[in-house]
Amino acid sequence: MTTIRVGHLYPDYLNIYADRGNIAVLAARAAWRGHRLDVVELGLGDAIVPGEHDLYYLGGGQDREQLLVAENLAGKAEALCAAVLEGGAALLAVCGGYQLLGRGYRGRHGEEMPGVGLLPLETLAGERRMIGDVLLECELEPGLRTTVAGFENHAGRTLLDPGAQPLGRVVAGFGNDGASGYEGCRLARAVGTYLHGPLLPRNPRLADWLLAQALAHRSGGEPPELEPLADALEARAYELSAGRARSRGGRF
Ligand code: GLN
Repeated sequence: MTTIRVGHLYPDYLNIYADRGNIAVLAARAAWRGHRLDVVELGLGDAIVPGEHDLYYLGGGQDREQLLVAENLAGKAEALCAAVLEGGAALLAVCGGYQLLGRGYRGRHGEEMPGVGLLPLETLAGERRMIGDVLLECELEPGLRTTVAGFENHAGRTLLDPGAQPLGRVVAGFGNDGASGYEGCRLARAVGTYLHGPLLPRNPRLADWLLAQALAHRSGGEPPELEPLADALEARAYELSAGRARSRGGRF
C-alpha cells in the first residue's frame, strides 16, 4: 500500500462545479487498488514545500475568488515550479486554477491577476462566456489515445505559447479560446484544463493516468500499470457528456 500525498490548493476559494469530486474520484480509485490518498489543504498561510506532495490540485473559481488568491499563489511560484518541473510531482488544475498557472489572467473587469508562470500561456477574459459540454481527443502517452469529456464555463480566452502542448484537440466545444481548436495544456506531469463536471468521474483513464504519475513521484520510479476497473457507471457518465458535446457543444 502506498500513501499518495495530495496538496489541495485553496479549497475554500477554488471550488466550483463540484471540483472537489475530482479528489473523491482519485481517493476511490486509489483505494480500489489498495492505496491511500492523504489530502492536505494548502491555504493562504501554508507554504509549498517541494517533495512533500505527489500531486497538487487546483479547482475552478470565479474571477472574484481568483483575485483573492492570485497574488498569494504567485508568491509560491518558485516552490510550485520546483515541485513539478524539477521534482516531478503531478498536478491537475481546472478552469480558474488552470488560468492562474499561466503568466497571468486579465479578468472581466480589467483586473490583472499575476500567474505562477508554470504553464506557457496567458489568459484574457472576453465578452461572452463559453459554456457547454466539450469532447476532446487526447494522447496521454505516445500511442495511448483517449477521448475526454467535460463541461466548460469560462469568460477567459487562453492563448498557448507557440510549441506549448495542449491537453487535447477539440472535437466539440469551445476549448481554450473558441478558435484554436485546442483545449488545456500539459507540461511534465502537470495538466491544466477548462473541463469541469467534475472532470474525473467521467474520465477514468485520465484519473488513472494522474494517479500513476503521482505514484511514480512517490516511488521515484516509472508510473505503474494500474489494475483495470469495471467503470460501467463512469462509461455511462462519459457517454452522456460526450453526446451532449457532439450535439450542442461550442455554440454561443
Ligand atoms: N473566472 C474564470 C472565467 O470565467 C474561470 C471560471 C471558472 O473557473 N469556471 O474565465
